[in-house]
Amino acid sequence: MNSIFDLTGKTALITGSSRGIGHAMAITFAQAGANVIVHGSRSSKNLDESVTEIKKNGGKAVGIAADLSKSEQVDELIEKSRKAFGCIDILILNASIQSYMTVEDFEDDEFQCEYDVNLKSSFELIKAVLPDMKAKNWGRVLTIGSVNQWKQSARLAIYSTTKSAQVNLVMNCARKYAEYGITFNNLAPGVINTDRNVETLADESARQRLLNMIPAARLGKTEECTGPALMLCSEAGSYITGADIPVTGGMHL
Ligand code: NAP
Repeated sequence: MNSIFDLTGKTALITGSSRGIGHAMAITFAQAGANVIVHGSRSSKNLDESVTEIKKNGGKAVGIAADLSKSEQVDELIEKSRKAFGCIDILILNASIQSYMTVEDFEDDEFQCEYDVNLKSSFELIKAVLPDMKAKNWGRVLTIGSVNQWKQSARLAIYSTTKSAQVNLVMNCARKYAEYGITFNNLAPGVINTDRNVETLADESARQRLLNMIPAARLGKTEECTGPALMLCSEAGSYITGADIPVTGGMHL
């Protein structure tokens, strides 16, 4: 039973895994036997502690810092990952940024930064890992989207746009690369209890408003994103490509 979820011998690069959902996926993937590249935007205690946690439990991991808004650092991330563990078999595009602003308040450079981190780096990283995945006839690419693909929120218009565009990229790649044994899927979380929501959730009325939008009537936990991610990135998901799976407690409905 467990063998279909076993990742022994596979290397997973999980962007934005110093904290939050990415961190939970890094822990789970290491437990499943993968060599994990833990990534954050910069050197940090969170990044170091994530690597230490994995190693302490007998897993294999390295921590690499790279600002995904900068193409040179994206290149370095790939180079350092390969140096640590060889080919990347599993790419999880999880890092993102979001500014709560309406379209008219966005400055060009702020738009550019959100676009570069959330979308351009996805294109760059996918392009970088494809040759090895094609050569091995095996690969998994999983993007982390958002409930905002379906739910409009005026102050997250640019963020939502980058997430929807990323899904479109995934669907096109899913069709193109299926014949090489490479799957492309998207997981779309709802409101998950992570650092990015601390401020919003501290406001009781905002918290209640969000809870009222969630049929499950509670926030999601980071661990609740890990099972579907492991399924999609292991043999268990070998015939699933082009899926867009909500992990929202029903919030997308
Ligand atoms: P989070 O706790 O806010 O962590 C963000 C991660 O992204 C950190 O590892 C951070 O690195 C990294 N990061 C931020 N800016 C970066 C940059 N410029 N370059 C490289 N890495 C950068 O994230 P999360 O809440 O777990 O969210 C994970 C994913 O789920 C995101 O794609 C998010 O859009 C999606 N999502 C989350 C929710 C939610 O409710 N949490 C809902 C829907 C979708 P540092 O530690 O160095 O800052």
